[in-house]
Amino acid sequence: MKRILQTLLLGLVLLGLFMGYKTLQFKSQQIKVAAVALNPVGEQVVGRFAKAVTLQTISPEKERDFDSLAFFQFNDFLKTSFPLADSLLEKKRFNHFSHLYKWTGSDPSLKPVILMAHLDVVPVIAENLTDWKQPPFEGKIVNDTLWGRGTIDNKIGVIGILEATETLLSNGFQPKRTLYLSFGHDEEIGGLRGAKVIVEHLKAQGIEAQFVLDEGGTISQNIIPGIEKDVALIGIAEKGYVSLELSIKKEGGHSSMPEKESAIDILSAAIVKIKRNPFPAKLAGPIAGFMENLGPEMGGINKFIFANRWLFEPVITGIYEKTGSGNALVRTTTAPTIFNAGIKDNVIPQNAKATINFRIMPGESSSSVLARVQELIQDPRIQITKGRMQSEPSQISSTESNGFSTIRKTVAEVYPNALVAPFLVIAGTDAKHFEPIAKDIYRFSPMIINPANIKSFHGLNERIAVKDFKKAVQFYQQLIQNSTLE
Ligand SMILES: [Zn+2]
Repeated sequence: MKRILQTLLLGLVLLGLFMGYKTLQFKSQQIKVAAVALNPVGEQVVGRFAKAVTLQTISPEKERDFDSLAFFQFNDFLKTSFPLADSLLEKKRFNHFSHLYKWTGSDPSLKPVILMAHLDVVPVIAENLTDWKQPPFEGKIVNDTLWGRGTIDNKIGVIGILEATETLLSNGFQPKRTLYLSFGHDEEIGGLRGAKVIVEHLKAQGIEAQFVLDEGGTISQNIIPGIEKDVALIGIAEKGYVSLELSIKKEGGHSSMPEKESAIDILSAAIVKIKRNPFPAKLAGPIAGFMENLGPEMGGINKFIFANRWLFEPVITGIYEKTGSGNALVRTTTAPTIFNAGIKDNVIPQNAKATINFRIMPGESSSSVLARVQELIQDPRIQITKGRMQSEPSQISSTESNGFSTIRKTVAEVYPNALVAPFLVIAGTDAKHFEPIAKDIYRFSPMIINPANIKSFHGLNERIAVKDFKKAVQFYQQLIQNSTLE
């Protein structure tokens, strides 16, 4: 007995030492860079951004609501606002409203860099208009903040990139590496007429990108538990999307003599089963990278836990699972979104239908989601069909690449106090269309997101501080220089 206790004690001591060693070895991944002088950004730049917000380039729910006039106006706006880009770069339009600019580098043997953004925005719901503190399409600047739809999603990208380009052109900058600027006009409804077509064109030219940067992660402020500093979250992958429709047809009848099971009973039981069996949680890929990069910056017990993920993985996933946003980072999520059955209180309906929306983790697929749901339900009476709109999860891009380190360096130069970490983008972006021509695809918008403005994505009171927008322009200037000069 004493022997066993001694061995156990020795084991515990060794384990403790090992974990302590792992914690000591858990060193910061952050880089230090020399301070750089950033070009000042003038007020006329802010005026052009405000003007862009007034053009209602909305991607509507229904195609017949598409207003081409606003998009034609946006074409004109780009032409007159960025005369150097318009006259000095090669330009091509796709399906009238998506734009590709090419700034040819002096060394054609280098692979090009592609910067992306989208110029369409989501609609503003009419009933919510009174809840906007400033109107969504007037480009108003109040208390040094620009208000309106598109300020963060994603006209900041279009205007930020073009302002940076215009300044560099006027300064006589000459890239060694070719730079493409790609601006889609239908990202919010899938990007099939914009980004996808642009990529087909580039692929036909045999182009393979050094790296691609699109919207996605942001600079998160006071959002990540255990981290006080700002964190630039660089998306290295995005989740996929599929909806499954479950339907059942069964004899109905009068509710005074119900059979043992109705269509509603069977379908609701199936949904309960799917909800009770969530997809497995894992700390892999982008989220593992996120922890490796942020863990060393944490203090005390948090650092100890993240340094020993091999042991504490269940504890960490347990914490993440508690919130919707955390849960979305560790597993394929399951969200029933539509449920239809019945029309009258004393009639048992023949049909019941439900839709469940899944956001798929990298490494899984819409087919593996379908297969798992079929296996869980195992009821031939329920028909399962995939919804029309779907996208597979993206590949995971490397954090060891030239692209990632260029973005990391640029963040360190423009936001010297921010940490950098790879991340998983839980919503869809146009970047996924670029996989045929790029291995290294990153998703990052240079802007600060905090608890005060996080809900304004696709929501109410979308806005950005003027000084944050100016920083974004400086970020793109610096990024263009860092990525095209070598
Ligand atoms: Zn967007």
